[in-house]
Amino acid sequence: MDYPGNLFVVAAPSGAGKSSLVKALLELDSHLVVSVSHTTRKPRGQEQHGREYLFVDPATFQSMIDAEDFVEWAEVHGNRYGTSRAAIMERVAVGQDVVLEIDYQGALQIKKLYPNAILIFILPPSWEELAQRLARRGEDADDVIAQRLVNARTEVDQARHFDFVIINALFETALFDLKAIVHAQRLKYAVQKKAKPSVFAALGLN
Ligand code: 5GP
Repeated sequence: MDYPGNLFVVAAPSGAGKSSLVKALLELDSHLVVSVSHTTRKPRGQEQHGREYLFVDPATFQSMIDAEDFVEWAEVHGNRYGTSRAAIMERVAVGQDVVLEIDYQGALQIKKLYPNAILIFILPPSWEELAQRLARRGEDADDVIAQRLVNARTEVDQARHFDFVIINALFETALFDLKAIVHAQRLKYAVQKKAKPSVFAALGLN
């Protein structure tokens, strides 16, 4: 099944800078929106229901799985996370491109469902740098950081299945790379034809 718009899926181990990059990208590009996922995790700090996530209890999440409300879902670091069909279809209906900021398991499910989705993996420049970033962030306890670093090995190993890889050594360079991928996607023949039908018609291209 072809996804009827541009669907960008961004995955990375925690600490690689995924959220900051996606946030900066969205500020620069008004045609892009991020999909808000459901999760069974409890809100952290300033997080708000409906903004960062739709926070639901495990029973609600399970009933959504049973009702096939999710296009993908996965268990990550002991909690469940999922992208609802509604979350992305509402955006496509109004002609927006969608970014999914999800883990690698969800990304691979999306690629199976929508082969034209663009999968982007963000790598840290080294294991040392990833460990330093997680510690500097000060969000997690030492045992949580240690577990995230262990999980990161498995996650990074999946980068080979993605269409694009960005190495986030320098934020500005990584953001430039991300913008370049989004831009290049929009220049594909089929996408251009859909975006500029009158030009194609005038040129006799069908
Ligand atoms: P956090 O709890 O730190 O916000 O997110 C933990 C991990 O879950 C991150 O890798 C994040 O990208 C991933 N995640 C967030 N939403 C979804 C989702 O809807 N589906 C999947 N598969 N992963 C998600």
